Order: sequence, then structure tokens, then C-alpha cells
Amino acid sequence: MKSIGHFINGKEISGKSDRRGKIFNPATGEVQAEVAYAEKSELDSAVDLAKQAQEKWAEVNPQKRARVIMKFVELLHRDMKKLAEVLSSEHGKTLPDAEGDIIRGLEVAEFCIGAPHLLKGEFTDSAGPGIDMYSMRQPLGVVAGITPFNFPAMIPMWKFCPAIAAGNAFILKPSERDPSVPMLLAELMIEAGLPKGILQVVNGDKGVVDAILDNDTIEAVGFVGSTPIAEYIYTKGCASGKRVQCFAGAKNHMLIMPDADMDQAADALVGAGFGAAGERCMAISVAVPVGEKTADSLIEKLIPKIEALKIGPYTAGNDVDFGPVVTKEAQQKILGLVDKGVEEGASLKVDGRNFKMQGYENGFFVGACLFDNVTSEMEIYQQEIFGPVLSTVRAKNYEEGLNLIKTNQYGNGTAIFTRDGDTARDFSNRVNVGMVGVNVPIPVPLAYHTFGGWKKSAFGDLNQHGPDAFRFYTKTKTITSRWPTGIKEGASFSIPTME
Ligand code: NAD
Repeated sequence: MKSIGHFINGKEISGKSDRRGKIFNPATGEVQAEVAYAEKSELDSAVDLAKQAQEKWAEVNPQKRARVIMKFVELLHRDMKKLAEVLSSEHGKTLPDAEGDIIRGLEVAEFCIGAPHLLKGEFTDSAGPGIDMYSMRQPLGVVAGITPFNFPAMIPMWKFCPAIAAGNAFILKPSERDPSVPMLLAELMIEAGLPKGILQVVNGDKGVVDAILDNDTIEAVGFVGSTPIAEYIYTKGCASGKRVQCFAGAKNHMLIMPDADMDQAADALVGAGFGAAGERCMAISVAVPVGEKTADSLIEKLIPKIEALKIGPYTAGNDVDFGPVVTKEAQQKILGLVDKGVEEGASLKVDGRNFKMQGYENGFFVGACLFDNVTSEMEIYQQEIFGPVLSTVRAKNYEEGLNLIKTNQYGNGTAIFTRDGDTARDFSNRVNVGMVGVNVPIPVPLAYHTFGGWKKSAFGDLNQHGPDAFRFYTKTKTITSRWPTGIKEGASFSIPTME
């Protein structure tokens, strides 16, 4: 069986520890590989090697560092099909969706080619007599990224591309459920010309995450995953003096106004709710139609569209809308929550609980489910289900719908479907959510903007990718210099001012 180790100093090495995790093929339910779980000593030695390499890397001029990323982008295009195949086989998503996962990471890599411009400081000529003032952005040193299973290509690239382009060394701890693509990305970075030690992939579970948080050389940690783990990492990381940003769970609502194009809204909901089997932090999991007439018409349009969804293994090619969920535990959790929704009194309009894929009976498939008449007290509303389940919460009017979204604990993404500019503008201004779509169901900002939620969907100040990524992975130094030295003013005991 394939055994996945760690990627250290330019090559894959096998792990020392006996602790290993299983990697499944979610479509068949079979174990296809195992991955080593690093011990603390392995993490610490990967960090020491990274530290040595980083000192030289920081001296490489930004344009040369950017050229490595440029070459990496070219290699991603070359290996796109191979990477997508590996990604789908471990994650379960369809091949076109796996390519999308890679492309969304590649777009951030493209943005990072602009590192020389983004790292340029500021300069004030003659800030005082003979005084110039300038600021520069310097790398932090060794930084780390801890990433989730649902975007095993995109999110590692969102983290390591800006960090490395800014002159840091990077320790990547990918999800233990689908680590093969992150390992291949590290190989491609070496092929692109990255010096050894600058990108180290250390696999594992909570043990290695704790080792990252306890390592004093690591200056910053970027995390993406579920909210309880985000809170844990944020609290522990900050307490040990690290710079930490954690992007977390979500419950994304779509508000459907009575004037919306109902066919367009229903199509958008089906794509955004069920794409990638709902395993996206920007998936729409709650539809909020405004008014009974809107709700009835929406449900009537949704039912046949959801019943017609094609579910299957990624090997079925373009014929499949979504695949299995990632593990048996995820499958059981989702099915349990659907049962709970029925118990709590929500109306299950489309019931995917008994879905069986012919020839793939042991795969982790869950059929698409649609709930109507969900209320905000129900567990299916409170919890992030992270599966192919769409809940409908009926709102009497716009204010009630907006208030539902505002009082939800999460604030990652949201959308409004309407033809009315006033309502769309009011919604965009008043909603307390980080990413808002107007007639756009999955408003994931492009690489040159930034990505991040509010409330329990993100902890820390700066967003992911875009200019914020360069701010997160660098520190600012401001220099005040006086030339010529001939100016003599005598000793001054007051704070310098511009008066
Ligand atoms: P997860 O929280 O289980 O795992 C994320 C990472 O944390 C993994 O690398 C994992 O090994 C590590 N981890 C798991 N348990 C840990 C523990 N007890 N202590 C320390 N580390 C631990 O998340 P997941 O299931 O891989 O991913 C799905 C979650 O990620 C969803 O909640 C989804 O909304 C969220 N997500 C958020 C964003 C965003 O940008 N907001 C993007 C993608 C996914």
C-alpha cells in the first residue's frame, strides 16, 4: 500500500513514528494509502532546517523569488490533470471541481508574482530638516499553515505562495485525510527552483499541530478548518506570542426576495448547496425565501432540480454533479443530523438518506436532502452540516430574513437574490458577514481581493490572499534617517514634533 511520509529539505522522507492514518478512496470506501503522523521531534527538526534555509532565502531579491512562483504556475498547468486525479481520488470531488480547487490556488500564486511591488515600502523625502523616513516589509522567518481537507490544493497555496514570495520559510501541515496533493505541490515548488528547506510538509494530526504551536521558532500560524479547532489554535497560538489567523466554519444563507428571478435563484441554490457535496465553507446551506408565496414557488422549483442531481464517483467524468463525502464518519454525522431534523419537525422534501450508488455500495455517498420549515432553534440550523443538505427557513419579511442572518453565530458568506437595487444595497451595507453576493451565490473574492469571514467564521485581523496575505506574513520596519550629519541642533529633551 502507498505510504505517505513528509516532505523535508527537498524530498519525501518516511516518518519515524508508528502512528499512521488511513487515506480512503471515498467513492469505494477502500483504504488506498496511509500517512505518517509526525512526532514533535520531527516537526522541530523540520523547523530547524527551515530556519537555516530561510536566512539565505530572505536575501534573494524579491524578483528572483517571484520567478520561482512564476515557474510553479507553469508547472501547475503542466500537471493539472494528474493533480486533479489524485485530489479527486482522496477527496471524492468531481474532476472539474478538483481542477477548480487547483486553479483557485494557482490564481493566488499568479497574484504572488507581484511580490516585488507588494513588498515595496513607503518613502517620505524631507520629513524634517535633512530627514527622510521610509518603511519596509520584512519576512517573519519561519511560518506555518494548518489546512483542512476540503480544498487540499487551493488552501495550502493560499498560505505558502504569499509567505514564500515574501521571503519566509513555510511549514505546511495539510489535512491528514488528503495529503497527497500538498506533497506534490511541494515537489513542484522544488522543480520550480525553490531552495530546499523553504517549504516543508509535515503530516499528522493534533500531535503535530500542538508541536507547531509549542515551537518558539515559528513566528506565525495561518489556520483553516472548523470553528472549535480554530478557537483552540487561535487561543493557544496567541498565548505563545505568535501571529495567528484562523478561518473557520460557516452557515451561509441566501435571502430570496419576492421579486427575484425564481429560476435563477433555484439554479444558484442547487449549485451552491450541493456542489462538492456541500463540503465547502462557502456552500449555501440555508435558503431564506421572503414571504409564503416566494417560499412555495422556490420549493416547487427546487424539488425536481434536486431530485435530478447526478451523484457518483469522480471516475464517471462530467456526468456527475457531486461525489461522496470524505469519510464514513462524515457520512454518519450528516445522516444523523438529517434524522435529527426530521425528529425536530422540519419537513424533509427530498430525502437522500437511502441513496446507494450501484457498484459503490461501500462508498461514502449521501443523497441530496432538502428541508422546508426549518426554524432557528433546530440543530440542523444551528450546526454546520458540511454535507449535501439544504435547509429552508421561511421569513415573513426582509427585516426578519436579514435579522436571522445577523444573529447567526457564523459570518463567512451570504447572498441576496433580488431585482431591486435599493434592497441589495441595504443588505450589503447592513449584513454582518465577510463576503456578500448580490445575485451571486458563492461570492468567493478573486485572488487580488481578500477572503475572510466575520463572527465565529474567522479569528484574527487580516484576511487570506490579496494584499492582506503579504501584510500577515511580513512585519513593517520604519526607518528615520538624517543626512547630512552636519546639522547641529544641540540636545533636545522634548518629544520630536513637526511644530
Ligand atoms: P478540521 O478543523 O477538522 O481540521 C482542520 C485542520 O486542523 C487539519 O489539518 C486537522 O489535522 C487539524 N485538526 C483537527 N483536529 C484537531 C485538534 N483536535 N487539534 C489540533 N488540530 C486539529 O476541519 P476539516 O474537517 O478538515 O475542514 C472542514 C472545516 O473547515 C469546515 O468547518 C469548513 O467550514 C472549514 N473551512 C473554512 C474555510 C474558511 O476559509 N473559513 C475554508 C475551508 C474550510
